[in-house]
Amino acid sequence: MTNKAPRLDSKKARRAAAHPDRPGERCNAESGRYEPVVDRRRCEGKGDCVEVCPYDVFEIGKIAEDEYRAMPTLVRLKIWAHGKKTAFTPRADACKACGLCVVACPERAIELAAR
Ligand code: SF4
Ligand code: SF4
Repeated sequence: MTNKAPRLDSKKARRAAAHPDRPGERCNAESGRYEPVVDRRRCEGKGDCVEVCPYDVFEIGKIAEDEYRAMPTLVRLKIWAHGKKTAFTPRADACKACGLCVVACPERAIELAAR
């Protein structure tokens, strides 16, 4: 995983901002109070979270082999079909709880957790 410039898709971000179920604190939370938690059994690694996060929290990478092998068979098949790609949160400390990633994720794989 490498540090890259933010990869915002402003159209997707605006759509997520208007979502009625958006959780969190509208970007008003102090950094470090919340963090997004990705359910890798659901994640398909296509990166909508990367494209909407204003604080560049996410990175797409390959799931660790031991974590992959510990998944149930059907989940492993799904992950394999998506090239074993999954979302990581290397900059979770920067999260300000805008909630955009939660509602933008098509697989409902992200929860915003208080730390
Ligand atoms: S938007 Fe959801 S499914 Fe897509 S990469 Fe991010 S966490 Fe995974
Ligand atoms: S809730 Fe946090 S991780 Fe999710 S998009 Fe907003 S700042 Fe990024």
